[in-house]
Amino acid sequence: MRILLTNDDGILAEGILALARALRPVAELTIVAPDRPRSASGHSITLHEPVRVHPVTLAEGIPAFATNGTPSDCVALALKDMLEERPDLVISGINRGPNLGNDLTYSGTVAAAMESALLGTPSFAISVASYADDAPYEPAAEFARHLASEILLHGMPPQSLLNVNVPGVAAGEIAGVRVTRLGRRHYPARVHRRTDPFGRAYYWLGGDPPEDVLEEGTDVKAIAERCISITPVHLDLTHYDLIPEVSTWGLASKPQQRLAGEPATDNP
Ligand code: MN
Repeated sequence: MRILLTNDDGILAEGILALARALRPVAELTIVAPDRPRSASGHSITLHEPVRVHPVTLAEGIPAFATNGTPSDCVALALKDMLEERPDLVISGINRGPNLGNDLTYSGTVAAAMESALLGTPSFAISVASYADDAPYEPAAEFARHLASEILLHGMPPQSLLNVNVPGVAAGEIAGVRVTRLGRRHYPARVHRRTDPFGRAYYWLGGDPPEDVLEEGTDVKAIAERCISITPVHLDLTHYDLIPEVSTWGLASKPQQRLAGEPATDNP
């Protein structure tokens, strides 16, 4: 099987090397990843500067390509131009830190897998739910190898991907595998206001641990209970239940009259 690997932590990150080590014996790998950390870059693409690609050599002589683009750029470059044949699968990760619930719209890791799904190639994102320096990546890498073969066996429907989180513990301490839905995480104080030496305000975003809402059946709960979570994700973000509700709001006729403060009328 042919697999494309990418990530948002950058080409030198431990997680992508762990994936390469685990998958090299069973797959023909191409690795295309950002040349610097791009965490929380979401699904951004580079439109206003050139994107360049450089061959690099990772540990153990593993060949790879580094780009100045985003994770989504890496997938688009590889699938649309660099690879002569479409890979069977794109794997994004292994991310350092969880990508659970509300994290998904921020995550460059998950966005890279979304880009692949948009382009019609099966994909999954995988993260180790720990920022600890000694968190092991091998259990997640082994699980990725197993999941890759299952995806090739079963296939994936269009516009779909899997988002996987693995507890940051040794393999023997993982309590199970659960197929989950996205949970909720609250980031209580994402913005820190500071003052620079010239008396001007500046801000730091993030840094605070989120408060997890431990609802049954969610990825957040599975990780809290040391289980691997696999959440099927669909790219259709439509809130179908709200379509009839918003349809009753009286927005349908003559929007230009509404904006001008004129009463709406059905007359031409
Ligand atoms: Mn990351």
